[in-house]
Amino acid sequence: MKRTDKPCECCGRMMKNVWSRTKYCPTCAKEKEREWKRRRNEKRKARAHALPVVQSASKADAELRRIVRLADLAGRSYGYQVAAMEGRL
Ligand SMILES: [Zn+2]
Repeated sequence: MKRTDKPCECCGRMMKNVWSRTKYCPTCAKEKEREWKRRRNEKRKARAHALPVVQSASKADAELRRIVRLADLAGRSYGYQVAAMEGRL
């Protein structure tokens, strides 16, 4: 590893005497880190949002099974049961 002068890959500003594998000037490095953290946060938020959807999906599933059971008890088809419950009959 050696020190070298090279331009920042982000803003193109010349960086003096930096490690040859350094990609960004300190300003851009900070910016990149902030962006990375923000993205990670968004992913976490998206996951938190996904949870209620899963819950309501399983709630809808439970509702469906309840209707199927009611329909079964009444000797009706599922479609007939739903129609009856919604007052379409
Ligand atoms: Zn830069």
